[in-house]
Amino acid sequence: MRSCEEVIQRDLCSRCGSCIAVCPSGALSWRDEEVIFDRSKCIECGLCLKVCPFVNPNEVPLAKPMAYLSARTRIPEVAERCQDGGVVTTLLIRALESGMVDEVLVTASRNNVLFPVPIIARSRKELLKTCGSKYAYSPVLSLLRSISRGERIAIVGLPCQITALRLMEKLRLKATENVRLAIGLFCFQNYTLRTLVNIGLGELLNMRADEIKKLSIRGGKIIAWTVNNDRKEAPIAPLDAHALPACKVCQDFIASLADISVGSTGSPEGWSTVIIWNKKGEEAFRDALEAGYLRSKPLGEEGIKRINRLRRIKARRALKYIQDNPELSALRVR
Ligand SMILES: Cc1cc2nc3c(=O)[nH]c(=O)nc-3n(C[C@H](O)[C@H](O)[C@H](O)COP(=O)(O)OP(=O)(O)OC[C@H]3O[C@@H](n4cnc5c(N)ncnc54)[C@H](O)[C@@H]3O)c2cc1C
Repeated sequence: MRSCEEVIQRDLCSRCGSCIAVCPSGALSWRDEEVIFDRSKCIECGLCLKVCPFVNPNEVPLAKPMAYLSARTRIPEVAERCQDGGVVTTLLIRALESGMVDEVLVTASRNNVLFPVPIIARSRKELLKTCGSKYAYSPVLSLLRSISRGERIAIVGLPCQITALRLMEKLRLKATENVRLAIGLFCFQNYTLRTLVNIGLGELLNMRADEIKKLSIRGGKIIAWTVNNDRKEAPIAPLDAHALPACKVCQDFIASLADISVGSTGSPEGWSTVIIWNKKGEEAFRDALEAGYLRSKPLGEEGIKRINRLRRIKARRALKYIQDNPELSALRVR
């Protein structure tokens, strides 16, 4: 295999965007929620395979963190808009305002709060537009194509995206030389917009996308808030069958290659669970705390247990999927 064509054809592509960023001949692009491969432009350099999180999975999904915490923002405009405790946006605002980074690669919404679009943000105002989870694919790493002048950057990504980012760093690409902070989001699985809108909203909640102000997937439920502040919820299980193979082969629930990871599992509503993986993550978090941007408390044993349970379930599901589809292993051998 000399290109990622087969990975794309078999829906093993997690749409992280790393291949689009590294392809030197423009053979890969993004259209209608898909990575498009143009064989006529491919020079078979194999770079796309070197940065693909399916081909080179994170094999330490149960790695041991430095610390577990619960935290929430002290910035009122973030609290009004954020998904959980607003820790992600707050860490990014602090990183920009303290001068630690010049730009951040994040996911905003387009047309509707639920529809993702990757953007480069350079101010608090721009970051406020990126608050909230969009449960669909956002090829945020493709933006690394536009980073070439040595800008210091922070990135927010799902576990697959953080794995791909680390693969890009190993290749010593100019765009990743100055990544100062990688924030990972917990993720059990993601969805295509078609699945989210037709099945998640239509079949499970009997709602249209334009009625929704905020969507959350937590505790086995899909929960929607309307523009009139009504709340509707339904069990999420029927969506499982529609997850792409790309998500079913991923072992990593908490982005264990990030500097710091953030999710909802383990913390009460309105708070974020924070996992610190290394010194970079610890410094960014401590700086935001000391500057009065965040408040935090220890995460209880019960919270840690819930996280570890989901980590094991996700890792086991991936191993079983690969066992049940043995031909996939061959795609990982380059
Ligand atoms: C697809 C998806 C699945 C998730 N699954 C789980 C889960 O199973 N369990 C759990 O505990 N938490 C999960 N999360 C994380 C959770 O929903 C929150 O993102 C997290 O708790 C951070 O909350 P916050 O208030 O700090 O974020 P905010 O301050 O509101 O910031 C949200 C950040 O998320 C980023 N973002 C939004 N959508 C996407 C996307 N599609 N791709 C990449 N980045 C995005 C934005 O760039 C923004 O920086 C998931 C998130 C997503 C996007």
